[in-house]
Amino acid sequence: MNVLAFSRRRITVARIHGIPVRIDYRWFIVFFLSVWLIAVNLSHGGLWVMQGQLLPIGVAAAWILGIVTTIGLFLSVLGHELSHALMARAEGIEIDEIVLHPFGGLARLRNEPNSPGAEFRIAVAGPAASFVFAVVGFLVMYVARLADYRVIAGVLGLISLGNLLLAVFNLFPGYPLDGGRVLRALLWRKAGDIKEATRMAGICGMLIAAILIIFGVYMAIAPNFHSYFMGLWSVLVGLFLFDAAYSVVKHSRRRMRHVVSEAMSAPFSIEPDTLISQLIDTILPIHRQTAFPVALKQRLHGMLSLEDVKSLPREKWHSTRARDVMRPIAPRFFVEPNATIDFAKELMSRNGIGSLAVVGKNGELVGFLQNGTFKRKKRSKAGRS
Ligand SMILES: [Zn+2]
Repeated sequence: MNVLAFSRRRITVARIHGIPVRIDYRWFIVFFLSVWLIAVNLSHGGLWVMQGQLLPIGVAAAWILGIVTTIGLFLSVLGHELSHALMARAEGIEIDEIVLHPFGGLARLRNEPNSPGAEFRIAVAGPAASFVFAVVGFLVMYVARLADYRVIAGVLGLISLGNLLLAVFNLFPGYPLDGGRVLRALLWRKAGDIKEATRMAGICGMLIAAILIIFGVYMAIAPNFHSYFMGLWSVLVGLFLFDAAYSVVKHSRRRMRHVVSEAMSAPFSIEPDTLISQLIDTILPIHRQTAFPVALKQRLHGMLSLEDVKSLPREKWHSTRARDVMRPIAPRFFVEPNATIDFAKELMSRNGIGSLAVVGKNGELVGFLQNGTFKRKKRSKAGRS
C-alpha cells in the first residue's frame, strides 16, 4: 500500500445513533496544525479578535488550550454533520457514515433525497446547527468575560467564531457546499429537473472554488506570514472544492443521456384481484419477471415480488390474491420516466425487489424496469428485511 492510499484509509472513531464516524490519517495532520497554530498564537498573546488583548500565558498552558480549542472545533464539525445526518434520517434516508476529512466533514447518505423540499431541509440543517452553536458559544463567552475568566472566554470565542465561519462558508451557493445543495433544491423545484439543477449548482461550485484559489494566491503574495498560510489554505480548499464540483458536473453530463424512459419495458401489470395460482400457471411462463406491478386501470397499487410468493404455502395459491401478498405502493417502488438510470439502479438495489414501476406525471403506470445484474444483490437484501 502506498503512502497516499494509507493516508486515506479510514478509521472508525465513534458511533452515534448507529452512524459510524470515520476519519482518515490526513486528518491528524490538520489536527496537529490547528493545535500548533492556536498554541503559538496563544503563547504570544496575539490574534484575539474577540478579546482585545490577552495576557501571554505559559507554553504548556498554551498547548493544552490549543488541544482543547481544536477538539472543540472538531466537535463543531461533527455536530454540523450529525445535524445533516439526523435530518436525513427524519426524511427517511439512511446514513452510511460521517466522514471527517481535512477540509471539514461529510455525511454520506445512502440515496439522494427524493424531493426538493427534503434536499433543502437536509442541506440547511448543518449550517443551522453551526449557527446555533456559535450563538450559544458567544453567550457563554460573554458570561465568562463578566466572571473574568479571560482565557476560557478566549477559547469559547475562537470556537464560536469557527462555528460562525462554518455556517457562513457552507452557505456559499456552490455544490457540493450546503448552499449549493440549497441552490440545487431551488432550481430543482423551479424546473423539475434534478440533473440540470445538479449541473448548474456544480458549475457555481466550480466558480466559487476558482475564486477561493485566486483569493488564496493573492493572500500568499502579501509578505506577511499569516496571510501566506491562510492563502495556501484557501488554495487547498479551493482545489478540493473544484475537484468535487467538477466531478459532479461531469457526472451529471454523463447521466443526462441515460434516463429511465429509454431503458424501461412495456408496463405489464397484474390486477389486485389476480389469484397467485393464476399468476404462476398462466402469467409467469410468458412474463419471466421477478416482480410485477399490481395495478388497476393504470393506477399502481403495489408491487408483487416472487420472493414474497415463495414463502406462501402451495395450498394457499388458489385462495390468495395479488393484493394480499403485494408490497403496498411506496416511493422506493417507482420512479418517473425522466429519472436517471443511476438513480433507478440505486433504488432497485436497495428496495428489496430489484425492480421498479415507472409512473408518469399523472400517476399512471407507463413502464417497468428490472435489472438482471442486480438479482443476486436483491436476494440478499430481501433476506435481511
Ligand atoms: Zn454541511
